[in-house]
Amino acid sequence: MKRAQGPIRGGTEGNDAMLLIPCPHCGPRDQTEFSYCGDATVARPAAPEDADDATWIEYLYMRDNNKGLHEELWQHVHGCRQLVRVRRDVRNHEIKAEGPS
Ligand SMILES: [Zn+2]
Repeated sequence: MKRAQGPIRGGTEGNDAMLLIPCPHCGPRDQTEFSYCGDATVARPAAPEDADDATWIEYLYMRDNNKGLHEELWQHVHGCRQLVRVRRDVRNHEIKAEGPS
């Protein structure tokens, strides 16, 4: 069997795919210091005790998968442990804005 030739992918050295997330408390930090916490635009039902199954399914599982900007929450777990709201373009992973959650 012939092996593919070319650069070895993986690891962090020279990997352009790694995100640099600007934490408002600590400054720009490597993606490996953060944990992705999901879509920042999803709102918990206002009256959870009155919500029906369809409302819970919508809240828990249904997400838009738009090409373009996503509002996301990331936790700086290996830093200040704060939640950071990030606006990221999923087409090229460019971060347009950040701020506290
Ligand atoms: Zn931080």
